[in-house]
Amino acid sequence: MSKYWNKLINDIEPYVAGEQPKPGQKVIKLNTNENPYPPTPKVREALEKFNLADLRLYPDTNSTDVIKAAAAFDGVSEENIFCGNGSDEVLAICFQTFFEKKALTGLPVLMPDYSYSFYPVFSEFYDLRRKTIPLKEDFRLDPDDYIGVPNCGIVFANPNAPTSRAIAVEDCSRIAEANPDSVVIVDEAYVAFEENYESAVSLIGKYKNICVVRTLSKAFSLAGIRLGYAVADKELIEGLRRARDSFNSYPVDRLAQKVAEAALLDTGYYNETRAKIIATRTWVEKELKELGFTMPPSSSNFVFAKPPVDCGALYQNLRSKGILVRYFNKPVLKDYLRITIGTDEEMTELLKAIREEIKDAENS
Ligand SMILES: *Cc1c(COP(=O)(O)O)cnc(C)c1O
Repeated sequence: MSKYWNKLINDIEPYVAGEQPKPGQKVIKLNTNENPYPPTPKVREALEKFNLADLRLYPDTNSTDVIKAAAAFDGVSEENIFCGNGSDEVLAICFQTFFEKKALTGLPVLMPDYSYSFYPVFSEFYDLRRKTIPLKEDFRLDPDDYIGVPNCGIVFANPNAPTSRAIAVEDCSRIAEANPDSVVIVDEAYVAFEENYESAVSLIGKYKNICVVRTLSKAFSLAGIRLGYAVADKELIEGLRRARDSFNSYPVDRLAQKVAEAALLDTGYYNETRAKIIATRTWVEKELKELGFTMPPSSSNFVFAKPPVDCGALYQNLRSKGILVRYFNKPVLKDYLRITIGTDEEMTELLKAIREEIKDAENS
């Protein structure tokens, strides 16, 4: 509390990011869904070619070269893409651009419970009404729950977090079709981690109200550069640009633009990395099930798994062994650990530690 803060800042409960280890601290970090593999070597090449003298100049406001690479990657035209400083920022600008303030509308933004916990924070921050829609008992998002419910907008992650489950693109299209007056934001942070994935980007030619949000943080191993983008009909993209230019007209710096462009162009490396993570996940799911864990089927680079022993204690004990996983101390979620898929070596360590913990719990 501070008398110098306004009411909003005094009242808001900010998003809590996953724990970051102290510099130099050696941990197995499986708590924020980062990619365990380095970005493509093309990134180094791009940085070596970078002319440092250019840093005196402001960057290209639209990130044109990144947009070109992203348009090629997603098979859309350049006018369908908007770049931002991480997809968190892109999502924030989407909320600001497409959803209406409480004072102006009685209508809520619809979002699943459970989903990315930034959505409720953005809703508070931008003074939006929200309505959370429970997932089914098996953590499935049912598109029917988003049909016939008055709203000023819809947002969900697909695959969802922290549950790891995905819905089909046809389900996204049903939601968009049934809500023609609202923008439907599909946050695809994890879409790459399904073998033969189909992105909702395939729908944007058909629906003017779908806005797909992408990030380079997870599948491209670039959480450190903060690059995210939206793919949508050009009318939506123009709105996002208006919002950006009323707030921060140079969100993506020159280095980030070069790095992102190089990464988006190397689809071979992207597919190799995806395949490795999918293979490790398949193996880890099997091992965890054999140890008595239960979990929804994962379409992402993490599993959302319920251990056969006390979850909070397991989280703490893994932490004291230098293995960080994500634990949400909230109803229902508190019985689950969200575990990022790391390298095979990291996951071997994790499984070994879990085996020890289960044995200890049985003996006590
Ligand atoms: C990680 C994540 C993001 C954030 O991505 P950044 O581009 O790093 O800001 C967005 N949405 C979901 C669901 C995520 O898990």
